[in-house]
Amino acid sequence: MSNPSTIPDAAERRPYVRCKRPRCPRCDSINLHSYKTTQRSIGDTMRHTKCRTCGTLFYLVMV
Ligand SMILES: [Zn+2]
Repeated sequence: MSNPSTIPDAAERRPYVRCKRPRCPRCDSINLHSYKTTQRSIGDTMRHTKCRTCGTLFYLVMV
């Protein structure tokens, strides 16, 4: 018995999920640093994020 995830055929059939890169709401930079992650009770994930370009602090919410 082998693990299904090690079978090449199964790997080729995996769907692609494309996500846009998060950007700074102030300067549109993609050079961001998430320094803390909080799992919220409503089911999403909130990342405390700082823009490395302009220093803006904001929350990145993964839904
Ligand atoms: Zn910025």
